[in-house]
Amino acid sequence: MNARAALHSFPVATGATNPPSIQTTQLPSNLAALPNQTHFTAVADLIKTVFNVPAVSVALHGAPADDLGEAYRSFLEIPLIDNGDVIGALRILDTEMREFTDRDCVLLEGFAKLVVEQVALWAEASRDMLTNAMTRRAFTDTLRKTFASRQRTGGKNALVMFDLDHFKSVNDTWGHTAGDAVLRTVSRLVMRELRTEDSFGRLGGEEFGILLANADGEAAAEVAERIRQAIERAVVPDFEKINFTASFGVAELTDMTVSAEFWMSIADDQLYRAKDEGRNAVCLAADAARAVVLN
Ligand code: GH3
Ligand code: MG
Ligand code: MG
Repeated sequence: MNARAALHSFPVATGATNPPSIQTTQLPSNLAALPNQTHFTAVADLIKTVFNVPAVSVALHGAPADDLGEAYRSFLEIPLIDNGDVIGALRILDTEMREFTDRDCVLLEGFAKLVVEQVALWAEASRDMLTNAMTRRAFTDTLRKTFASRQRTGGKNALVMFDLDHFKSVNDTWGHTAGDAVLRTVSRLVMRELRTEDSFGRLGGEEFGILLANADGEAAAEVAERIRQAIERAVVPDFEKINFTASFGVAELTDMTVSAEFWMSIADDQLYRAKDEGRNAVCLAADAARAVVLN
């Protein structure tokens, strides 16, 4: 599809008033770390210089929305198109009244292609090759952002960490390929249980993290319990005889959570409590437990 055809099938929006906020509520899911505005600083700076505008906004469907927080008088918006799917929008904004030309549209469309390529690169870099879960880095990044925005957003968030039980003996008995198949099966069944606003990452070998949006500790423990049962019943393609379980630690984000790292350590403590108590279990951090750790 050439540039003109793209303009015709997806009308370019321009405006001379405050632009409406870009809708970011549609799919795709952010289970695999969608980037937000801050990941496009370099390309955004380039676009600002080329168009001589003070602001550029990249909005991906499903990614956290960015608050531009200024009054703009004109804007030009181009859809971000990946393999025929509209995955978001690229917009340049000006505090002054200005007319955008056809040439501006074509130019911005070129930049939109660059952004789509960056999104693809980011998605690949932030995804674990074996399980398709987020990498540890992308997951902890998401956790830090959730922690940083906790007062502004106000909703409840909970972290679930889990680790497969006696996984070394699964490898020893069935072989590494079978172990890999188990990890892939676990990842698939976890993703089936989650909603698009949740995040799922592989933190290390056979240890995983789930960030549940709009869930308190109890709700998260219920999700963890569902996943625990699903893992217990899981059948691994080509290795139907393997049985395995996992241990879970759950911690809600509260006023006593002093950092994202601390939040992870609380969930991790509960995970090890579940291991100590015999494995194949879910342990939820109680307020008292959190207070003890804090003191
Ligand atoms: P525990 O119940 O205490 O967690 O025991 P465990 O055996 O699961 O724990 P341990 O840390 O002793 O062993 C983890 C094993 O996970 C050892 C390592 O070979 C295996 N492992 C880590 N990454 C991978 C992977 O990518 N593929 C496979 N097949 N195995 C992995
Ligand atoms: Mg283990
Ligand atoms: Mg482990």
